[in-house]
Amino acid sequence: LAPGEFRRQGRMVVDFLANYYENIEKYPVLSQVEPGYLSKRLPSSAPQDEEPMEAILDDVRQHIVPGLTHWQSPNFFAYFQTNTSTAAILGEMLCAGFNVAGFNWVSSPAATELESLVMDWLGKMLELPTPFLFSGNGGGVIEGNTTEAIICTLTAARDRVLRRLGHNSIAKLVVYGSDQTHCSFQKAARVAGIDPQNFRALKTTRSTLFGLSPDTLRKAIRLDIDAGLIPLYLCTTVGTTSSAAVDPLAPLCEVANEFGMWVHVDAAYAGASCICPEYRKFINGFADSFSFNAHKWFLTPLDCCCLWVKDPNALVKSLSTAPEYLKNEATESKQVVDYADWQLSLSRRFRALKLWLVIRSYGVQNLRSHIRNHCRLAKLFEELVEEDCRFEVVFPRYFALVCFRMCPSVVAGMSNGHIVENGHGEAWKLNKVNRFNAQLLRNINASGQVFMSHTMVEGVYVIRFAVGATLVSERHVIMAWKVAQEHANSLLSMPAS
Ligand code: PLP
Repeated sequence: LAPGEFRRQGRMVVDFLANYYENIEKYPVLSQVEPGYLSKRLPSSAPQDEEPMEAILDDVRQHIVPGLTHWQSPNFFAYFQTNTSTAAILGEMLCAGFNVAGFNWVSSPAATELESLVMDWLGKMLELPTPFLFSGNGGGVIEGNTTEAIICTLTAARDRVLRRLGHNSIAKLVVYGSDQTHCSFQKAARVAGIDPQNFRALKTTRSTLFGLSPDTLRKAIRLDIDAGLIPLYLCTTVGTTSSAAVDPLAPLCEVANEFGMWVHVDAAYAGASCICPEYRKFINGFADSFSFNAHKWFLTPLDCCCLWVKDPNALVKSLSTAPEYLKNEATESKQVVDYADWQLSLSRRFRALKLWLVIRSYGVQNLRSHIRNHCRLAKLFEELVEEDCRFEVVFPRYFALVCFRMCPSVVAGMSNGHIVENGHGEAWKLNKVNRFNAQLLRNINASGQVFMSHTMVEGVYVIRFAVGATLVSERHVIMAWKVAQEHANSLLSMPAS
């Protein structure tokens, strides 16, 4: 790592990325390569001798970029974005440059202390109750992702109960979420050794806007207790993956607290918005842990899941190992945080740097504007959909996600033969409508002009339009809607086959 070469090559990479961002709108948003494309283009064995960075970057340009789906394109509206910023990319550079593995305080004090500081800053920005902050005897940690955050908190909750009841009770522990909870909860429950029979995905309905009803939770808990089982953990969601629905936290926490359960709030997507006072109300409630992915909507690239817990000791009791080769005086003094005891792996990246750079270089007011701007653009898209009576917005919009589809009445009346008819009555209509909307989305995405994604709620196929790219502006949203309309027009006018 000769400083001169590092400077020269580093500038080349920065230039490369700057050009990439300058030209990002020229690429098809959804990659159009075929499976296995790369093995046809790159050698099947590693080079014996060194190769110049120029040649490597040339291959990135020619062979890697075409295989990218351009998540940072302003025309990317799929899934939930994972947006980034200059500050955060530079923060990643510092992180890779220092490359410390701050698993405990002594292994890199700044990595630990900056993380604790930034997590308290962010906790205050979110107005989390004081018991979640270090200053209130709780604390925050940066995990890689929400799945890890749930595995860690679920493991802590599990062990807290099993220490009291004995390990044999593990087969009786029950965990609760809704049918809208992210699948990471199911994975976490499997990893934590919860019997798959004791995993409850409680039904939500349109009448509760796909939020979990406290009555439904209470009934399920009572049934389980009557069957001799032990309610353990409730995973609530603020901003579900399908439709950004919101579980009513305060009443759900009340029910769960009555039964001594651990409540986690998964605000992976929508948590970022809660730095704005107008969205803060969604996270009122007495939970045990709260997480959001700064790598979704907080201008910070993967990976950066911010988790706060009221009882860090519960995490430490479950996840600490303390082998001889890690023993040190700072740990023994009990005056420091050793973050390896708050997460799954031992080694950890200095992720706090990028978050610190983001918060400092934007400031709270600009971060709020970033969120509000995306919500405003989503509202604009929603209005455009509503102006075209052939389309409908399917779910109420809370944040920057619009779920829409071509109306059943338009599709059901069609005589075109491009949708295969396979029956009669309402079910047939629904299938036909779903198939039409799926085809519409395929055509929109195949254009390469924009990328949207889909979901299915209560058997209804909807197209998800999630505003989240750092570079997105009004013109991109208007263009995306035009693309959707054009493809709808051509589908609707296809002759019968
Ligand atoms: N929870 C919610 C509500 C999500 O939307 C997502 C991903 O989109 C996840 C969890 C999974 O997050 P991760 O990939 O960080 O584990």
